[in-house]
Amino acid sequence: MFTQDILSGQVALVTGGSRGIGSAIAMTLAAMGAKVGVNYNASRDEAEYVARVIIEAGGDAVTVQGNVSLDTEASDVVEKINQHWGQVDILVNNAGITRDKLLMRMSLEDWENVIDVDLKSAFLCTKYVMPQLIRRRNGRIINISSVVGIGGNPGQANYAAAKAGLIGFTKAVAREVASRNVTVNAVAPGFIDNGGMVEQLSDDSKDTILNRIPMGRFGSGEEVAELVAFLSTPNAGYITGQVFTIDGGLIA
Ligand code: NAP
Repeated sequence: MFTQDILSGQVALVTGGSRGIGSAIAMTLAAMGAKVGVNYNASRDEAEYVARVIIEAGGDAVTVQGNVSLDTEASDVVEKINQHWGQVDILVNNAGITRDKLLMRMSLEDWENVIDVDLKSAFLCTKYVMPQLIRRRNGRIINISSVVGIGGNPGQANYAAAKAGLIGFTKAVAREVASRNVTVNAVAPGFIDNGGMVEQLSDDSKDTILNRIPMGRFGSGEEVAELVAFLSTPNAGYITGQVFTIDGGLIA
C-alpha cells in the first residue's frame, strides 16, 4: 500500500522527462514525494511546464538540459542534480527516439542515433549515478525498454536492438550491484498513446495495431508511470534484474 509520501527524501532523475511517458513518470514520482530532476534535450518549454506543474502541486522539481547520449553532457546532468539536491537515489533511463526504416534503407546514422540515445545514454547515466548508490547501499535504476526489444518489429531494427540491449544491460548491472541493495529493472511498454511515438503512426497503422492488442486500446503514460513508481519504492526492494511488460496483453 502506497502512502502519499513514500518517496519523501528521495531524489529522482528522469531522462527525457519533458514529454510523453517521461513527463508522466516525473509527475507521478513527485506526487509520491520525490524531488525530481526533469531532463530534456531540446524541449525546454515542455520541461519547464512539467516542473511548474509539480511545484504548483506542492512538490519539488528542477529542469536540467543535456543530451544524455553524449558522455560529458550525461555526466553534467547527473552532476547538476547532485549539486542541487546533494544526491540521486532513483534514475529512470527514459530518453528515447525512433528512426524507423526497413533495414535495406537504414543508414548508419539512423542506426547510430538510435543506439546512442536509446542505449548508450542509459549506460552513461547509470555509470555516473551508480557510485553514490553503492556508497549509500540504496538505489533504484529503471530502464524504459519496449516490447519491440522482446519481439522485434519490421522497420525498427535499430530500435529493437537498442531496447533488447537495454534488457541485457539491466540484467547484467542488476547482478553487479544486487549485494549493495541497488535494484535495476526494465519496463517494456507496448503501444502508449501519449502524444509521442504512437502519435506519429498513420491511422491505418494505428487500426492494425489496435486489432492486435487484446485489450483493444493503447496504454497511457500514467499507467507506465505507476509501474515505474512502484519499482522506485522500498516496497519493491526484493525485485531486481526483471523486465515488466505493460502492453494490454500484446505479447502475453
Ligand atoms: P517522446 O514523447 O518522443 O519523448 C521522448 C523524450 O526523450 C523527450 O522528453 C525528449 O526530450 C527526450 N530525449 C530524446 N532524445 C534525448 C537526448 N538525446 N537527451 C535527453 N533527452 C532526450 O517519447 P515517449 O513515447 O514518451 O517514449 C519515452 C520512452 O518510452 C522511450 O524510451 C521510448 O522508446 C519508450 N517507449 C515508448 C513507447 C510508446 O508507445 N510511446 C512504447 C515503448 C517504449 P527532447 O524533446 O527535449 O529531446
